[in-house]
Amino acid sequence: MPAISTNKPFRVGRSKTGLGLFATKPIKKGSRIIRYFGPILDSRIKEQDDIENKYLFELNGRWTIDGSVRKNVARYINHSCRPNAESDVRPRERKVFIRAIKNIEPGDEINYDYGTDYFKAYLKPIGCKCQSCEKKRKKMRAEARAERAKVKARAERKAQKAAGKTAATKAPAKKKLNGKHFNGKVGRV
Ligand SMILES: [Zn+2]
Repeated sequence: MPAISTNKPFRVGRSKTGLGLFATKPIKKGSRIIRYFGPILDSRIKEQDDIENKYLFELNGRWTIDGSVRKNVARYINHSCRPNAESDVRPRERKVFIRAIKNIEPGDEINYDYGTDYFKAYLKPIGCKCQSCEKKRKKMRAEARAERAKVKARAERKAQKAAGKTAATKAPAKKKLNGKHFNGKVGRV
């Protein structure tokens, strides 16, 4: 893990999906958190255009930042569909900064939206694990569970009704005799 000086308001830590970047100090909405940096790739140069990894940050049609370098701590920032930060892309300067779009509290994981292309290529196939999507999935699972329980209860009621009807035609299920319950069997003894 890279050494991170303590005056930075974040640290690398364990997140649900591996490693992530977490606030260690309050970060004000609108403030710059970290620069996303790495070698600049030129799409007009074939060998640079051929580079493929998960940390490519496209600045525009021509320039891309290869953020896979170890020193780029911003690469630890995970995607979220409801993030607390965003990427501030400056193609002319060929720079990207990650900026808070909410007040971030110490301990909060820092996230930004990676964008639709990344989402489609990397997250959709495996299912997005961001908090917002996990919450949605949890809710859907709970709803599905409730629906299954409802269907089961309905089926059970139906079965009981049917059983009750057959029992009723054979012999009354429960009859009170001298204050005691008995069923057909006991009655015969
Ligand atoms: Zn998500």
